[in-house]
Amino acid sequence: MKYTVTILESHYNVLKSHLLQNDGKERVAFIICGRSIVVGKEDRFLSREVILISDSDLLSSTFNQVTWDNNFFIKTLKQAETNNFGIIVIHNHPQNFSQFSSIDDNGEKNLFKLAFNRNGGKRPYASLIMLPDGTLLGRVWKSDLTNSPISFIRVIGKNYKIWYPGRTKNFISPEAFNRQQLAFGKSLIQDFSKLKITIIGAGATGSSTALLLTRLGIGEIVLIDKDTIQESNLNRLHGAKLSDVGAYKVDVLKQYIKDIGLGTKVKVIKEWISGKRDILDQLKTSDLIFGCTDDNAGRILLNRFAYFYLIPVIDMGLVISVKNNPPEIQNLQGRISFLFPGGDCLITKGNINIDLAYSENLKRNEPENYWRLKKEAYVVGEGNPAPAVVTFTTQIATIAVNELLNRFLNFNPNGLVPHKIFFFHHGTEIFPSNIENNECRICGSKNYWGRGDMLPFLDLVI
Ligand SMILES: [Zn+2]
Repeated sequence: MKYTVTILESHYNVLKSHLLQNDGKERVAFIICGRSIVVGKEDRFLSREVILISDSDLLSSTFNQVTWDNNFFIKTLKQAETNNFGIIVIHNHPQNFSQFSSIDDNGEKNLFKLAFNRNGGKRPYASLIMLPDGTLLGRVWKSDLTNSPISFIRVIGKNYKIWYPGRTKNFISPEAFNRQQLAFGKSLIQDFSKLKITIIGAGATGSSTALLLTRLGIGEIVLIDKDTIQESNLNRLHGAKLSDVGAYKVDVLKQYIKDIGLGTKVKVIKEWISGKRDILDQLKTSDLIFGCTDDNAGRILLNRFAYFYLIPVIDMGLVISVKNNPPEIQNLQGRISFLFPGGDCLITKGNINIDLAYSENLKRNEPENYWRLKKEAYVVGEGNPAPAVVTFTTQIATIAVNELLNRFLNFNPNGLVPHKIFFFHHGTEIFPSNIENNECRICGSKNYWGRGDMLPFLDLVI
């Protein structure tokens, strides 16, 4: 079992200014967390609410210890109990001591003993240390009062930050990444080798995205798509050959990535995106997701998923519309959305066609009903095949993958916006801002942010 933590950037910033006050003293705070559990694989804490213990409520605070009235912790335990939430206790080490001290060991053992005795249950609690530069490290405490290290800590928001044991500024990267290292340094190569990224859709934009991520050095890629290769895909499907017609897109892509030889781990799932167990297990253990599908029903799920599980989704879309015959380009428009709590979601932005989502679901799950209703014109269906050109599908995928780079490296701070639309036919771009007085249940209220596992899944009635 791997233990990991995801903290919203807004929470992280509040914690940082509370804990790091440059006066050489330890301080403490609690984080109430949603839970995401994939049995045997990963137990992930998702930050929902930060509770700061003010200086006047501390019993003592020096350079190497901090103590407080247990009543504050008991109050937090009560609050977490209602929804089976987890709790992280976080304190700082002003002298940059980058491990738990024996004082921490004793204090935490008693604290979490109290937690297990009061709230019951077997699910672990976590503790984190913040160092003076904002670095986080941590461990979990289990019900037998033993502890295990937290193997991955993410901060997500406008920027994406990660920490893990063994992270070094002097990573010796494989020779294949020497030139990339000249641009972005050694840490990024090591960071990317630790990431697991899932790509929904292995078509034109999905295949571009997968190959770009491979060459950037992403450690693990999961490809989800049920489609097989048609001859009419060969104009835009990277990695596919005529001899691959009839094979699964994900299988062909997986083989191509293996042949590149950079050691990328690849998993494939030959299904459409849905709430099925094997798909959810992959999504929930991902660090980021690329949405490379036209599937409206799938987008509804991904859209909620990003906010519930604090896993950013970079969703992309491309529209080419023509008029007349021979065709004239009327619209040639690409879209990138970075879905995370703090930015508007796809529903708020009108990027999901709910009617199409309904008919897509019906077509997959109840094909007989779908064709009957379609004949009677009760459902909308796909029209003629949409125009598709490899240069534009590849361009939008490239912009999407650069979005990932910028979130990690911040080389273009002005570009860290949730939504971008590119008009390739007149060379302009717009960044639609968040709407005001947003009443969306997903992105307009914090209720679902970091909610994690719950029944029904994603609070969706399917
Ligand atoms: Zn919304």
